[in-house]
Order: sequence, then C-alpha cells, then structure tokens
Amino acid sequence: MNLLSPLTDIFRLVEPQQKALRKLRIKTAEDLLYHFPTRYGDVAEMRTIDSLRKGDSVVVFGRISKLKASKGFRTKIPMGTAELADDTGKIQIVWFNQPYLAKMIPEEALVRVEGKVSQRRAKPSDATRSTLHASRSLYFSNPKIERVNIVPQGVGESLFGEAGETHHLHPVYPESRGVTTNWLFHHIQKIIASGILDSVVDPIPPEILEKYHLPTLKTALIWMHTPQQKDHAVAARKRFAFEEVFFIQLEKQKERHLWKKEQSFVIDKTEEHITEFTKRFPYELTGAQKHAITAITGDFRRGDPMARLLEGDVGSGKTAVAATTAYAVVTSRPKDQNFGNLQVAYMCPTEILARQQFENFISFFSHLPINIGLITSAGCQKFPSKVSANFKTGNGATNISRAQLLKWVANGEIPILVGTHSLIQKSVKFKHLAYAIIDEQHRFGINQRKALVRRTNAEQTQKNAEKPQMDTSLLYKDLTYRIRQALFTVKKNLGGGHKEIVYQRALAEELTACKLSFKREVQIPILYRGKHVGIYQPDFVVEDAVILELKALNFVGSVEQKQIWTYLKGSSYRLALLVNFGPKELTINRIVYDTARNSSASGQHSSASVPHLLSMTATPIPRTLALTIYGDLDLTVLDELPPGRKPIITEPVVPKDRDATYEKIRKELKAGRQMYVITPRIDEPDPDKEFAVQAKSAKAEAVRLKEKVFPEYVIGVMHSKLKDDEKEETMEAFKDGKIHILVSTSVVEVGVNVPNATVIIIEGAERFGLAQLHQLRGRVLRSSHQAFCYVFTESAGAKTADRLKALRTAKNGFELAEYDLKFRGAGELSGSQQWGVSDVAMEALQNLKMVEAARAEAKRLLEEDESLSRYPLLQSHLASRKKEEIHFE
Ligand code: ADP
Ligand code: MG
Repeated sequence: MNLLSPLTDIFRLVEPQQKALRKLRIKTAEDLLYHFPTRYGDVAEMRTIDSLRKGDSVVVFGRISKLKASKGFRTKIPMGTAELADDTGKIQIVWFNQPYLAKMIPEEALVRVEGKVSQRRAKPSDATRSTLHASRSLYFSNPKIERVNIVPQGVGESLFGEAGETHHLHPVYPESRGVTTNWLFHHIQKIIASGILDSVVDPIPPEILEKYHLPTLKTALIWMHTPQQKDHAVAARKRFAFEEVFFIQLEKQKERHLWKKEQSFVIDKTEEHITEFTKRFPYELTGAQKHAITAITGDFRRGDPMARLLEGDVGSGKTAVAATTAYAVVTSRPKDQNFGNLQVAYMCPTEILARQQFENFISFFSHLPINIGLITSAGCQKFPSKVSANFKTGNGATNISRAQLLKWVANGEIPILVGTHSLIQKSVKFKHLAYAIIDEQHRFGINQRKALVRRTNAEQTQKNAEKPQMDTSLLYKDLTYRIRQALFTVKKNLGGGHKEIVYQRALAEELTACKLSFKREVQIPILYRGKHVGIYQPDFVVEDAVILELKALNFVGSVEQKQIWTYLKGSSYRLALLVNFGPKELTINRIVYDTARNSSASGQHSSASVPHLLSMTATPIPRTLALTIYGDLDLTVLDELPPGRKPIITEPVVPKDRDATYEKIRKELKAGRQMYVITPRIDEPDPDKEFAVQAKSAKAEAVRLKEKVFPEYVIGVMHSKLKDDEKEETMEAFKDGKIHILVSTSVVEVGVNVPNATVIIIEGAERFGLAQLHQLRGRVLRSSHQAFCYVFTESAGAKTADRLKALRTAKNGFELAEYDLKFRGAGELSGSQQWGVSDVAMEALQNLKMVEAARAEAKRLLEEDESLSRYPLLQSHLASRKKEEIHFE
C-alpha cells in the first residue's frame, strides 16, 4: 500500500460505502488521511448512564441487548427497542418508526449511542416499564447508534477523576450515507497503523517548521486524527492552515515575479498634465482618489508592468480613477515614435455595465480628439461619430460593424476600447495596448484576467504566426472526429447555461450511444524527470487515447491549455481536447504533446511589452484574505466616499413593524421612487438545488408582494436561474422605470446604476454577513434622493441589534468585513469555496500574523532563488497542486 493506492485495493468496500466515499471525494489512502475532522466530540459529551438527566444531549458507550422490533402498545406504531448497559447502569432505547434498527445490530455488541435523553410519565400499564430502572423512566428516543470495537478510555475518569491529559478526543468527520464518523475513524486508524506515514514527505522546509513551531506533516496527520490533547488538534490544524496559505503565497508570488520580469510601457506624465484632465470634473477628487492616481501613475513610470488591485466601496469613485489614469496612457506616444498613441482596454462583466462605462468615458473624454470604442456580443459602437446624425445613437456614438471596429483597434485609431469579455476574443488585436482595466474583477475568473493582459499587440502576433507549426492534425484523426460529433450533439441538445457536471453526464450518455469506450475518474500519474510529482484526473479518457477536459465557463484561456499540456508531457498520453460548453459556440482546443517538439503547443507569448493591469472591485474582504488570494497584486484601497453623500438610512425591522414599514415605503413609491427586495440567502450543500430554492423564494416573495402588499405596482423577479439575456432585459426594464419593484436573490449582483431606486428591503438579514448586507444596500447609494435600507429580521435579539448597529456606524465595507471575520468567523465571508481556499485555511485568516508569516516566507524563498531549485520538494508540490478555476455566479 502507498499513499496513492485506491481504497478499493486496501479495504473490502461494499457498494454503498464506495458511493459514499465518491461523494466525499475520497479515492486514495492519501485522500482519506486528508479527510479532516470538523470537530472533536468533547469528553464532556461522553457520559455514564447513571449520570443522565432528562433533556441531556449525550454520547454513551455500552453494551446493547434485548433488541426487539415491535409495535407500540396502544399506538401500534412500529418501533425498535433495546437496552443499553455500562458499568453504572442501564437505559432503554426506543426507535419509533425504525424497527429495522433493532435488527441491524447483534445482541451484546459494543455500541456508541448519541442522542437526547427523554423521560416518560410512568404508567403502571406500560409493558416496557419492567425493563427500566425501577425508579426512573429515562430512555433514548431515536438516537444515532454505531457499533464500535473499543469503548474509549477516559469516560469514567473525565467525570470523576481530574480532567486528565491522556483521554482521547473523539474526532467527528464529515459523513455521507454509507460511511459514518466511526467508520472513517477506524479506517483512518488502520491506514496510520500500516506505517504508511513513514513514507510521507513534508513539503515545507524544516527550518520554517521550526521557526513557527509547527508539527511535521507526519505528526500533524496523527494529531489531526488522534489528538491526545486539545493542543495537538489545534497545532495540527494550524500547520495545515499555514501550509495552504504558504503554498497559495508561493504560487501568487511566483506569478508576480514572472509578471514583473516582463517589459511594459513607460508612461511618464507630469502632475500638471494630469490636472489638466481632472480640473474639468464637476467635483473635487477625494484624498483617496488622488492617492490612488498617484500610486498608479507612479507604477507607470517604471519599466515593469503594474499589477494593482483597487478596492473601493460602491460609489467611492473608481471610474474617475480609471479614466484619469487612462488619460495619462492615451496621451502618451509609443516608444520611439512621435505619432499615434498607446491604448487602453476596459473590461466589464456585463453588457449593461459595459455600455454604462462607455457612456461615462464619453463624458470624460468628449472634449478631446480621442476615439472610444465599445465591443459586446450584441454589437459595436464608436465615439465620436463621423456620420450624419441619422445614424447616431443617443450618446453621440455610431453603431459600426465589428470588422470595422477591430480594424481600427488593430491600427491604433481607437485608443480606448470598452467591452465585455468580448474583449478577450482572439480576433481582438491592439496595436499598442498599454493598460488593461478590469471592472468588478471578482466577477471574472482568474484566467480571464490573465487573458486580458496577454492580449498580444498586432505586430507581435504576426511574428508569432511566422514560426513554423508542426502538423499534428493527423493524430487520432478519426477518433477525434467522432468525439467532436458527440460534443456537438451534447451542446445542441443542452444549449448553454448549465453546470459542468450536467454536460459531463450528457456526454457520458452520448459517448455510450456512439459506442465509444471511455473512462472517468482515471488517475494518471504525472512524472517529471522520472519522478512522480502528482496525479492528473481528467474528466474523460476516450478509447484510452484522447483526454477530454470539460468546462462551462465564459472563457478558457491559454493558462488552462498550458496546464493540460504540462500534464500530457508528464504522462503517456499525447492528445487532449479542452472543451468549453460555456460560450454560445462550443469551443474545442486541441492540445498535443508532440515528443518531437519541445515547446508549448498553447499560445506562445512573445517577449514584447505587456500592458499594465488595474483590477477594480467593490467586494469588501478582510485584509488577510486579500493578502492571500490577491498575493500577486499590489493593493490600493479607496477608503473614503465623496463628500456630501447622504448616508443611507438603515433600519432594522422586526416582524411586528413589517406592515408599518410597508406603508412608509408606499409613500416613496408614490413619489415615483423604485425599490429592490432581496430575498434571503439559503444554504444548501448542493449548489444546483441552492439556486433553485433561492429562485423559488424570490418568485414566491414577488407573488406575495403583488397579491398582499403592493398590488398597484409592477413587480419583476431576478435570480440566477434566468439566462443572461433575460437578466439584462429585466434590468433594462427596471432602469427604464417599467418595473417598480425588483425582487432579487442575493446571489445576483446588480452592479447597474439605477438612480431612481432609493429603497431596498433585505429579507432574512441574520443570514447575511455584515459586509454582504453593506454591499447589498450599496445598490441604492447612487441617487440625490434620500436612500433607505430596511433590514428585515426574524429575531429581535440583542445580538442581532448589535450587529445591525455596526451597519449604521461603520465607515466602509472593509471595516464590516473585519467585523464579520472577528465576530462570526471565516464562514461568514460569503462562501469560502468562492475564494478557492479550504475551510482549514479560512480559519487561518483570523490570524493576521500567520498570513503575514506565510507571505514573508514565500517571498523570501523566491527572492533567494526564483526557481526554488534548492527545494525540489516545494517545487514538485507546487506543480502538483491542482489549480481550480475560481468562478463566481
Ligand atoms: P464606483 O465604481 O466606485 O462604485 P463610480 O465611479 O461609479 O463608483 O462613482 C459613483 C458616483 O460618484 C458617480 O456618479 C461619480 O460621478 C461620483 N463621484 C466620483 N468621484 C467623486 C468625487 N470625488 N466627488 C463627488 N462625486 C464623485
Ligand atoms: Mg464601478
């Protein structure tokens, strides 16, 4: 047995167990060792029978007997009964409606029983009474029961002796039907007992472990699963948290190093030149805005590319910062040229936002001879217009053909191009792209971000095209043809908008129908210089020859391709298809590892200049999280709102005040204002289901409001199950005032400016973190009218009141994010999976010192030696970490 041995080779597993393990994503011995307890059953919960009282929730270990399936004496309810005994006494167990439980466990078995202690009124007529302790009539009602091999030590002592250092803490694992905590515990113990841990290698250099007093990997694994004392469990978790943050940091810092080695455009504009632009603004810039502009233009003066994140609450004026710095770029000449100008690309997550920012840029630049283009999947525009007024759109721009726009972008005539992810299509080529701006960057995957800065400028692309290309198109030609047929059929049948898994299932059926043999969940060992460095598990391997990797993303970039290429290189396979069902048209990328060729088959990157990158976001996250997930970016925070904003009046509303509040709101609606209603977050382990119930709750609320509260108004619904164009249509109608009340789930972000919407209701407020509440209410911040936020809560508790008070007093969202982290824990940071960080590492985020230490160590190692050649273990561990796309709704 080794770490990578499948569990099916190690244990005899029945089908329900195999299924449960698949569900828990446990395949190998290693996976099982890394299946960490979520908590440790406290010894205090473990009790002896004579100490039980009515209402206690406890764990009791003992021997079971008198198992019987029967019917209730009068009620005729089928039930199972038994008696549990330990050294101190006996207690009855009753399973109502579950008589079979009594048949599943043999007489005299050792068991662990967990449940609540009930007490019945003693009735002389009760047939089972005789089996009870004479004077008491306590029993367990429907408890959880498991067979155990040993009764844990220390139950007795911990109660009656001193709370010793030696008793076992009882780990509690995430379970699935078929494998219980107890099963997991024993099988993990067997694996540990096999001595396998002697072969684990610790990727963290020993001097770092020593410096921060962290246990080695082997010790940490043992302590995680069998801590002898609480401190052990804590130290083990700390180690794994450190490890994860450390490796994220290494990855990010490495990217940063590579990025900084690229060449960029030197843009050297004086402060006076910039003031020339900003002095025309109808307002004075805030201090924070000025500071951000100085930081960015400072970066521009250096030769290496900027990589900066601009964080600022909704309404903090990020657009003005973007426009001003864009001005510095487009008024600069390309190197060694006294004509033409450098170019800017500005990418937005949605069509509406792109159009809105296009118009904003028009108003910023209309006094200058600078062309601005707009590209979205719906069409292209250009400002200023040269043609007659008839063809002009409302904003003074003209609709132009895509081909025309692309031509003007490629020859540099359009210096500023605003767009959706249409911007990162291959056909879009710039002449001198020097500055890439991403608005609402959290809405894009990391690869889209990269794709934007990897836009090759037109001349460089030409050079690349001249390089000879190997003809590998014949590889598995017929087979590929049949696979493509299957893929297109699936796309045709399903259309767009589904999750990856939906396409995977459909493809499995289709391949079967096409009589193509395939395997899923194949583990392909990846070798690097003859050494095993990791495992690659593609979505499909067809006919044991072609690897399929399925995605359902807006865009799949060259990073993904490169990754797969690297896997191919380390394996015996030669061809992979990277399939993306996300876009309107199915995309299929062939990735070939040709042994005769030693360079990447994916898009080559030339040594010419790359653009500066500015990423902007309004998502308030704590500093520790920002340092971790944005470790490759410099951080600037706009922590100041423009002056003179009327703060939103935020009021918690308890159930009894609901009707009165609706009447207050009716006055606003009568005065012509509009309203958002946000329906609560609903946690569901299955995301598909979650979105379905959220959608249902939004729809139901809309119906209720229409029938019971606001029959006189038009009410629209917005949720993530809607298609993109339906979302945009609804949003457009709301913007135009055709919809008065928009009921929306919290998962749908509405970053669009609707100044007339001044009221927001948030239902089920206790389910949200403060930072998220803050972000939600930001939707009504953009008006000159007074804005109101009503936070409807189900409880009137003091704790809720305290939290909501923070909403009124906090200066900005970042402060609230820190508050959430401190008082409610990392789980509050709206969905940790969202950030691509594990639960263990999220815990670490409460600890700024640890995050800073991990960051400092990663930085130090890379500064000493960028290739990490002195740390081969670090190197291979880094290479084998699966990079999962972080994707947002
Ligand atoms: P963000 O993108 O950060 O949410 P915007 O850039 O859309 O915010 O700006 C929000 C509003 O504030 C816009 O109407 C903008 O004109 C205005 N604004 C920006 N900066 C200032 C400022 N310094 N003073 C007053 N108003 C400002
Ligand atoms: Mg904005």
